[in-house]
Amino acid sequence: MKANRKAGTRPERELRSDIHRLGLRFRVNRRPEAAIKVVADIVFPSTKVAVFVDGCYWHGCEDHGTRPRTNAEYWTAKIERNRARDLFQGELLSRAGWTVVRVWEHEASAEGAKRIARTVMSRRP
Ligand SMILES: [Zn+2]
Repeated sequence: MKANRKAGTRPERELRSDIHRLGLRFRVNRRPEAAIKVVADIVFPSTKVAVFVDGCYWHGCEDHGTRPRTNAEYWTAKIERNRARDLFQGELLSRAGWTVVRVWEHEASAEGAKRIARTVMSRRP
């Protein structure tokens, strides 16, 4: 499965169309906060909600994050670093007033979309 840079991976595209169907408008592949070096998959600037779609492999999902047997140590360390970075960046965004929503690529996109919509609605003034 080749991910087109602009269109995103299939789980991202499905999630976006489901959110769109719920009547919400958003930005795609944006830095939520200029000073923080992280690009979110979906950004709601007015309510300050940032969404990350985490791939099961790279973010170490417990159900599907199978590790290759060759160079297992290397990959485990790399995935651990990704997870630590996810946490750290989430921290920074929270401190800057953002609500971070993480969705696993294995999650049903309709469910993820509802979770995101609830978050966005709750942040509306
Ligand atoms: Zn998974």
